Amino acid sequence: MTTLKNARVDGELVDVHIEHGRIAAISPAGSKSYSDEQFDLEGRWLVPGLWDHHVHFDQQALALRRIDLSSAKSAKGAALVMREGQKRIALRDGELLIGHGFRDGLWPDRMTFELLDSIIPDQPVVMVSADLHCSWLNSSALAKFGFNSHPTGLLQEDDSFLVTSKLQVHSEQELDRWVSDAAIQAAARGVVGVTDMEMTDNIASWGRRFANGFDTLRIQAGIYRQDLDAAISAGHKTGEPLEASGLLTVGPFKILTDGSLNTRTAYCVDPYPGTDDRGLLTVGPSELRPLMKAASESGIIPAVHAIGDEANRLVLDSFEAVGCGGRLEHAQLVLPEDFKRFAQLKVAASVQPEHEVDDRDVADRYWPDRSDRAFAWRSLVEAGAELLFGSDAPVAHLDPWRAMAAAVFRTGDEREAWHPEQRLSYSEALKSSVHSNIEEGETADLVAVDREPESSRADELRTMPVALTMIAGRATFSAL
Ligand SMILES: [Zn+2]
Repeated sequence: MTTLKNARVDGELVDVHIEHGRIAAISPAGSKSYSDEQFDLEGRWLVPGLWDHHVHFDQQALALRRIDLSSAKSAKGAALVMREGQKRIALRDGELLIGHGFRDGLWPDRMTFELLDSIIPDQPVVMVSADLHCSWLNSSALAKFGFNSHPTGLLQEDDSFLVTSKLQVHSEQELDRWVSDAAIQAAARGVVGVTDMEMTDNIASWGRRFANGFDTLRIQAGIYRQDLDAAISAGHKTGEPLEASGLLTVGPFKILTDGSLNTRTAYCVDPYPGTDDRGLLTVGPSELRPLMKAASESGIIPAVHAIGDEANRLVLDSFEAVGCGGRLEHAQLVLPEDFKRFAQLKVAASVQPEHEVDDRDVADRYWPDRSDRAFAWRSLVEAGAELLFGSDAPVAHLDPWRAMAAAVFRTGDEREAWHPEQRLSYSEALKSSVHSNIEEGETADLVAVDREPESSRADELRTMPVALTMIAGRATFSAL
């Protein structure tokens, strides 16, 4: 039995008694005798353990070791950041220099291999965009990945995915060590669980990690198309535990149907301003529906990526036609008449609030006439939709406090809230980030924090100091 002494829950000072991984009792502080193992929270606030419902965990682990390009304001500026980074990292001859996280939507200059060659001629360079849908290579890297005669050096969609998938070629031990470090960083922000949407055989890679002793997070292992048949044959069902601890479970079947806003490949009803381009539908309904049907009939829930409003409409149509519920990933731009369909069809909206503060200017530029229904969390909640918050890390930070702050305040800087009518309350944001409550009988997934979340300002909520994270009553992080 474990006791959390002097925890603040709903304004009351209480002791929380934990037995067999669950909350056995909650009593007024000091009113009951304590068990052997005690944590004195000294009046800190206790919230349920936090989830991130959409991460790419291998990419996140690698991103923490890559040069951060998020501050670059131009192509040339990004290339110069890479050259600075090159000085910091001791690379061997011919070893890849990898940058990550640029947002080129508003850059004044173009990305070309000639520009990159002029700044870094001596080392192969790959720079991956924040949304992972394009990458910029110099000549040396183009040759390395078989794109010798590429006209620009800017690879998009499948070409880019091909390169980014090869960036993951490390020894398994090295990758698993980095993954373990990334998990510890997540636990330090109060994260107890993630849905891993990495484009790989997640059941296999996480099975290996848990067999080797990983126990820092709950993992829902997402399944991609190339592994769907095998998962069905193995009889896997979403939610089923995959090993003895119960921390690793089968996740959803993940499939993409369109691109992204930043690369203007999100598939929309109306063209992007000044063009007749509506974006890119990468998987249409006739291809999507049989896959959704096969997965759902076997108990594997579909989680379908749709960003543009036309893609969202087509995916909702497909859920309706197949007759299964599930998850729609991103839901960034939704037609007015489609908001209510999420609840009607039992499709949860898996959304990434931090994108809304990161992409507000890009949305104003490319969706100027429709930004009132972009990142429209309030409209979804009012229409009865279940929201699942996430980060799409490493696209945004693997930090639910940042996601909640973005949803509540809708600004990431000194500016006023962007579409303030779409703000959520803190309790609505929290509800979208947890799987349990602080009540007797509930799983003891808990987080203690130094500030009262409810009354925190935007920057206070975003940077919330975490003192303790527990999974089923076991501390996975402690700063106490
Ligand atoms: Zn994703």
